Amino acid sequence: MLVTQNIAEIRQARWADPTTTWGLVPTMGALHAGHISLAERAVAENDKSCATIFVNPTQFAPTDDLDKYPRTLERDVEMLEKAGIDMVFTPTPAVMYPDGFGTRVLVDGVTDRLEGEHRPGHFDGVTQVVSKLFNIVQPTRAYFGQKDAQQTVVLKKLVRDLNFNLNLIVCPTVREPDGLAMSSRNRYLSAEERQHATVLYQSLSQAAEMIENGERNAENIRQMIADKVKSTPHAELIYSSVASNLDLSELETISGNILISLAVLVGNTRLIDNFMIDGIEPM
Ligand code: AMP
Repeated sequence: MLVTQNIAEIRQARWADPTTTWGLVPTMGALHAGHISLAERAVAENDKSCATIFVNPTQFAPTDDLDKYPRTLERDVEMLEKAGIDMVFTPTPAVMYPDGFGTRVLVDGVTDRLEGEHRPGHFDGVTQVVSKLFNIVQPTRAYFGQKDAQQTVVLKKLVRDLNFNLNLIVCPTVREPDGLAMSSRNRYLSAEERQHATVLYQSLSQAAEMIENGERNAENIRQMIADKVKSTPHAELIYSSVASNLDLSELETISGNILISLAVLVGNTRLIDNFMIDGIEPM
């Protein structure tokens, strides 16, 4: 397995045989079973696959956890090798953003709500770095997790609008046995916070059940989630949303394909999760 921070080496390996299909799995490292599910899918569906490990500074706000974001490179590389990945791109910030760098990639509309509203500039950093990774690797298919639902909506729009010549594939969220979505940030949780962190999955499950039982008032769902988080120790709601899964606009009445999502501060750790539900019939 090739592991390199050198763009020319990545390009050389990528184009050694132009008929080879390539999968791309962009990550920020500190890998867990969720990342590995993306890697395994890329390996299964392409001749060769590339994972990238880069904690992208431009998608973190000054108050975010950039400096303390977990970095476990050696272990990550072992896990990727075991998953069958062929090359790992591990650039430094100076490789990605050399002196004189000054280009931004801004996606309108779907970036200004939910995560975008609460983390201004976050998606500008994501679209900037992902555009660069797409151009460096030029994959046939690129794999992203449903865990970051809004990111997948933003990136689909980026691919369409800028004619990136690749298929963007969204993979299901991998969860712990008690439902908590796997995340590199879960390791920040104390034992007690970890127990209460299941409130995200539990409130999404309750929301799905309410809809199954005929609830069509979106505000009732948002309120239920807010109440449930409020009554959980160490948990503080950042937002709860019941939105159209196309443009992420908040719904009044639930029907069709929807995204239920929430962000919660558990202790000092910011967690997100979502359920996508398709084909809801009007009552
Ligand atoms: P990150 O390293 O957090 O930037 O995540 C890299 C990729 O892995 C993104 O496409 C995430 O959506 C995806 N991912 C993160 N956690 C999970 C999970 N629990 N299940 C599936 N995919 C995930």
